[in-house]
Amino acid sequence: MNQILIIYTGGTIGMMSDPKTKVLRPINFEQIMENVPELERLNARIMVHSFEHIIDSSNMNPDIWSEIAGLIKDNYDQVDGFVILHGSDTMAFTSSALSFMLENLAKPIIFTGSQLPISAIRTDAKENLMTAIEIAKAKKFERARVPEVCIYFDYKLFRGNRAFKYNSSKFEAFRSPNYPILAESGVHLKFSINDIRQPVDGPLKVHKKLASDVAVLKLYPGISPKVVKNILDADVRGIVMETFGAGNTTTDKWFTDLLKGAINDGKVILDISQCKVGTVELGRYETSKELKDMGIANGFDMTYEAAVTKMMFLLGQYEDPLIIKELLETDLRGELTVS
Ligand code: ASP
Repeated sequence: MNQILIIYTGGTIGMMSDPKTKVLRPINFEQIMENVPELERLNARIMVHSFEHIIDSSNMNPDIWSEIAGLIKDNYDQVDGFVILHGSDTMAFTSSALSFMLENLAKPIIFTGSQLPISAIRTDAKENLMTAIEIAKAKKFERARVPEVCIYFDYKLFRGNRAFKYNSSKFEAFRSPNYPILAESGVHLKFSINDIRQPVDGPLKVHKKLASDVAVLKLYPGISPKVVKNILDADVRGIVMETFGAGNTTTDKWFTDLLKGAINDGKVILDISQCKVGTVELGRYETSKELKDMGIANGFDMTYEAAVTKMMFLLGQYEDPLIIKELLETDLRGELTVS
């Protein structure tokens, strides 16, 4: 019988409305189980690790990511797959971070949660949870069908570092426009075999160290030198710059001089687009040619969530800005397509 470890961190899936204040608050895992008697009928041995402090995922942080990575490491040889119950608000950050922290992954790590609590009559939680478990235990020829960090939500399975929360009120909470879905659930569970990454040979390597000294510079027409300077001068080593279209910025000299200054100070700047679909093409327009020449890293089609967590991961592993730049531009876990 397959063994699955459910790691419960919190989120709406396990919340209940406080009778007095009507505010949604997390409940413990036993109360969740009471709402899903179907779990008993699954052909799997389910183990549960519930975090001591159950949280709304807006309180998620890199220390908890390291704890989750540690739990996966400690249980990796005993189980066939993992299901992580997590609030949807920051699920794509956690799934992206975990994808970088787990190298040579050969077992499924399936994140799920829900938009309505599991106790609600119209809840989406049961389907999400039951199918996430089905996917975590799915095998073909003794090998996991999806040896990746994924998000399962509303009948679709996404690569965890390609998805983002796109809708706060529909059951269809996630999208992944730059990469195809990995599986779809209907009458049958259909896996997109050609889009699923296969593990490379070698044991799982878990990198628990992240450095969160990252700042974000989101551009808009009219942004002032004072604002740009303050962000670039922040006491951080990495800056994720959200640019226009295919990676473009203003060509004003004050702006490019400030960027060059930050790079000369040893900072790494990563260019990702404010567009949710498409890719950064440094050098395609005059408005990005200078960025390329000064050594800004090309983020290609990475999501914001993947960009920030990849920066934290690489800053945690390396000191040399040139190595970090090169790895930012390299496809490490299927998070980007080099174009
Ligand atoms: N605020 C909740 C959370 O992220 C929302 C959800 O679970 O969907 O924890």
